[in-house]
Amino acid sequence: MALELRPNCEFCDIDLPPDSLEARICTFECTFCASCVETELSNVCPNCGGGFEKRPIRPKQEWRPGLSLAKRPASTTRHQLSYDKPDISAFSTRLRDTPPVAR
Ligand SMILES: [Zn+2]
Ligand SMILES: [Zn+2]
Repeated sequence: MALELRPNCEFCDIDLPPDSLEARICTFECTFCASCVETELSNVCPNCGGGFEKRPIRPKQEWRPGLSLAKRPASTTRHQLSYDKPDISAFSTRLRDTPPVAR
């Protein structure tokens, strides 16, 4: 299974195309923009409580057989949060002072 390259930020719904340098993901592939991760989420994934890292860029060119963006395209399924904003804010406040490695 390849990483699911999701098309949008779950918080603000901005587009995050596969070559975006602003995309951040948690280990479950929950996807947000860098701005929301920093200002709204304080590096706490609202879905799982984990931290975020920069999403890698899938190569456009097929350097190795079958492994390019064209052969393994990005997802087109937009995801939205299943928690409301007050819940997310409380969750992030609870966890943000604990580094991801200790959560
Ligand atoms: Zn966002
Ligand atoms: Zn997550």
